[in-house]
Amino acid sequence: MTEKHNFCFCDPYTFALNKIDMKIGFIGLGIMGSRMASNLIKAGYDLTVYNRSPEKAKNLIDQGAKLSSTVLELAQSTDIIFTMLSTPEVVNNTAKEFLPALEKGSWWVDCSTVNPSFSKKMDLLAKNHGVHFIDAPVAGSKAPAEHGELLFLAGGKEEDLSAIAPYFNAMGKKTLYLNQAGNGTNMKMLINLMLAQSMATFAEAVSLGKGMGLDEGLVLNILTATPVVSPVMGLLKDRLLNRDFDVNFPLKWIHKDIMLALNTASEVNVAMPSLEQTEELFKNALDANLGEMDFSAIYKSLIV
Ligand code: NAP
Repeated sequence: MTEKHNFCFCDPYTFALNKIDMKIGFIGLGIMGSRMASNLIKAGYDLTVYNRSPEKAKNLIDQGAKLSSTVLELAQSTDIIFTMLSTPEVVNNTAKEFLPALEKGSWWVDCSTVNPSFSKKMDLLAKNHGVHFIDAPVAGSKAPAEHGELLFLAGGKEEDLSAIAPYFNAMGKKTLYLNQAGNGTNMKMLINLMLAQSMATFAEAVSLGKGMGLDEGLVLNILTATPVVSPVMGLLKDRLLNRDFDVNFPLKWIHKDIMLALNTASEVNVAMPSLEQTEELFKNALDANLGEMDFSAIYKSLIV
């Protein structure tokens, strides 16, 4: 750990000697969770999974995972639980089922994107059950999840973080250790509000370019070659031009994240006027039934 910044980046091999073999439970096998769980199996860990819709576990079972039919059953047979669920409400309801059943001294790592005050509440709840809690939301979408290239933003006690490090290394290329429960989620709020705002601003700029008579492909290429545009737009530009909004990160979840960031801002008395406008744009896209498409489908609703 660097004293000055109170965090450190760790490459995947830093904690190789720290490898420990606990029985792992993974709850939430959606776009992200299914791929993260698969990387734990590939790394040779003993994995038990649970998902509300059990059919999503099929590939993982074929790879060697065990399936629990209830959250309770999973908790009774594991030492560490990872959750990758949709919303704070779903995380809360699920945690209430597994926390009482976990042995004291077990770990719970919540990778879902939730709000910081919620993570702090979950930290307390876990402590009341004698369970170590880490909030570890991720930066990176479907492809990084599949290739084990996520960035983990991990908040929690240093000794808990280093115990969990081998598992982060199996699922990610880097972990940012943030030393206090809730800090991972703090950072994740900032990243996703930047992503939402960048996407909407970019779509508006291209739309104005087209309105002024410029060629869309040219605008996309030139804008993404400048430092004023987020690198993510460079990764998306071909898909935007082809109107390919196949889902990587569902639009409904970035709207959820904007709402979580706005609620957090209100809790800490910080004004977010431009984020409020962006929220309306994504809400309009939700109302236009784009929620199950990729978040970049906001482009579709803003472009002329
Ligand atoms: P997803 O594919 O929609 O998966 C959501 C998961 O939550 C599924 O396992 C789903 O179960 C479960 N779930 C939803 N409602 C539930 C309920 N009422 N009871 C029990 N389980 C429920 O979403 P995702 O893209 O994997 O995202 C998961 C989390 O990671 C979200 O917090 C998201 O914001 C965050 N995230 C996503 C990305 C991304 O690029 N996709 C990147 C970083 C972070 P079913 O399968 O039964 O529906």
